[in-house]
Amino acid sequence: MTDPHTRQLTLLSGMAMLLQSCTRETELFDVIYWYLPELFSEVSGRICLKESNPPTVTRVFEWGTSSRKKENPTPRNCDVLDKGLPVSARQAALTCCAYCVPFKDKSSVIGALCLGDHRKPLSGQYRKLALITAEYLALSLSNLRLHDQLYELTLRDPLTGLYNRRYMDAALAKEIPRSRRAGAALGGIMVDLDHFKRLNDTLGHDAGDEVLKTLARTLIDAVRTEDTVCRFGGEEFFILLTGGTIQDYLARAEDLRKQIADLDIHWQGQSVGSITASLGVAGFPMHANTPEILVHQADQALYQAKTQGRNQVICAGVEADPADTVSVT
Ligand code: GH3
Ligand code: MG
Ligand code: MG
Repeated sequence: MTDPHTRQLTLLSGMAMLLQSCTRETELFDVIYWYLPELFSEVSGRICLKESNPPTVTRVFEWGTSSRKKENPTPRNCDVLDKGLPVSARQAALTCCAYCVPFKDKSSVIGALCLGDHRKPLSGQYRKLALITAEYLALSLSNLRLHDQLYELTLRDPLTGLYNRRYMDAALAKEIPRSRRAGAALGGIMVDLDHFKRLNDTLGHDAGDEVLKTLARTLIDAVRTEDTVCRFGGEEFFILLTGGTIQDYLARAEDLRKQIADLDIHWQGQSVGSITASLGVAGFPMHANTPEILVHQADQALYQAKTQGRNQVICAGVEADPADTVSVT
């Protein structure tokens, strides 16, 4: 039979190896759900995570007998977490555990591993093990969060903060099959600023950037939270609307057109003048049965709006080929 010390080292290295291979936070929690009660089998314990905005401490996992919430309420704010140093109950008059090891990313405390009962000191062996475990958790969690932040950046347009085309492609690829299964509709609105090059040429690129940022805010404020706005290209934006009918999409597009025409944008104390946009509207399944066709149909309608004089909304006219239409079930 393996002695307890060897067993702990084996568990620790197994956990470290698995933590390294996690690609999402949920996987990380799957690993610790299994390993922590095994590693610290003689005491109760919990993992708390700290959020900075709003400042909260959340108990995300606990094990052992004295982990009942009544006995160990999670502090809303915790001095130990704020200081970021490991402490024992004796040192800090803890009432929630015997030993608390906060863990940090590069700049701040992100959580804590809390072990034991405050009335009973934790063994030196467990304290050492807790310090190493917290190091592993901190490293994995901060790496995963950094990875998520970097990934999020690849989906955003730096100028406007809107999602980019890459994100929209993925959203459409997910939403169209989902709507097909639910028998629901989707709308796509392509928005393109009119004569934007002229504005850049007369007032400069920075004034043009200001217009793009204002337009992005206008679009975001105008749509519902379940809708998605992206910067599709230079001065082109695509809006994905969920649910509704083609009449709804057209009404929303007309409303947007008016809001854009009413904008009064200033740059360096000077009005940039009248801004208008042309909009093309298409719907799934009425005009398209794939993401590519939906975008293409909205784009074609937009092209028509441009050729018919700009500052207007045009609905896609070409019905999807019935032979290609996937039945809505
Ligand atoms: P139309 O009414 O036919 O759409 O005319 P337009 O001038 O808007 O279209 P065109 O395609 O001729 O020009 C688009 C302009 O958008 C040219 C380009 O310099 C400008 N643009 C694209 N991206 C940006 C950007 O990030 N910032 C600024 N300031 N301008 C941009
Ligand atoms: Mg344009
Ligand atoms: Mg354009």
